[in-house]
Amino acid sequence: MSLLPQPTGSGAAVVLRTWPSGETSVIASLLTADHGPLRVIAKGARRPHSALRPLVQPGFLVEVEYGLTPGRQLQYLRGGTVVLDPLATAPTLERHAFLLAAVELADRCPLTAARGGELYELCHDYVRVLSCAAPGQEALLFYGFELSLLRLQGLCPQVEACTVCGRVVAIREPGTWFVPGGGGLVCGDCRRQEGAAEDPSGLATAGRALPREVRGLLRRLASAPPAADPDDSPPARWAVRELGILLHRFQEYHLPGYRLPAALGLLRPAQAAGPPSATRKECEA
Ligand SMILES: [Zn+2]
Repeated sequence: MSLLPQPTGSGAAVVLRTWPSGETSVIASLLTADHGPLRVIAKGARRPHSALRPLVQPGFLVEVEYGLTPGRQLQYLRGGTVVLDPLATAPTLERHAFLLAAVELADRCPLTAARGGELYELCHDYVRVLSCAAPGQEALLFYGFELSLLRLQGLCPQVEACTVCGRVVAIREPGTWFVPGGGGLVCGDCRRQEGAAEDPSGLATAGRALPREVRGLLRRLASAPPAADPDDSPPARWAVRELGILLHRFQEYHLPGYRLPAALGLLRPAQAAGPPSATRKECEA
């Protein structure tokens, strides 16, 4: 055993995912502010009184000390403190599900270490805002997070101008369409023309109607970082649900290996979250 001091790092991190290891330990995927993504092993963290136990809870913001031994894929988690348990004040099912879903997406995000700092900031801000969100705002915050994550990867959907003719489309203009493979908005004129030309690009079949309420939500989220404003009247539930479907389809098309975050399954019996099977009928109701 080497007697040389092992290199260590310390600082803020978001816990993204955890796995049990052996009898009592936990492996955790951390997103650190200073060293990007890091896999650590927390020895004995599943013992009831372990000091490491609260540091390996998915979605928690922590200040931790960890090893940085070169060449080692799994570093040792040495200690630290919890900065924010986002479920402490209101451990609701919605908050839980949308917290875990976001950190799961962040854990899968293939960004290089060079952008780890930005990804950390995004996750940190999301966890903070979600931790004090009013009931009912969780889903919209999560979709804002998904959009920000897409933007970080250079993949934000176009919702201002038509992706076919380039014309800026007024928010009240009817008949707009959302085509994931086309990159976003398609105006009614282009949609009709594509349909008349026997649908050579598949626009008529691959897209989905984009009601102005949903477009308004997309624009609102795309232009500003998500924030929880208790005075905001919550948008219509069908519009939020439809927004979730559009973003799911967009990610399915543009992100290789994308799949719905498993945590959203927690919401399925109570409400059809994520990309549920909402129909046009429901949307127009
Ligand atoms: Zn057009």
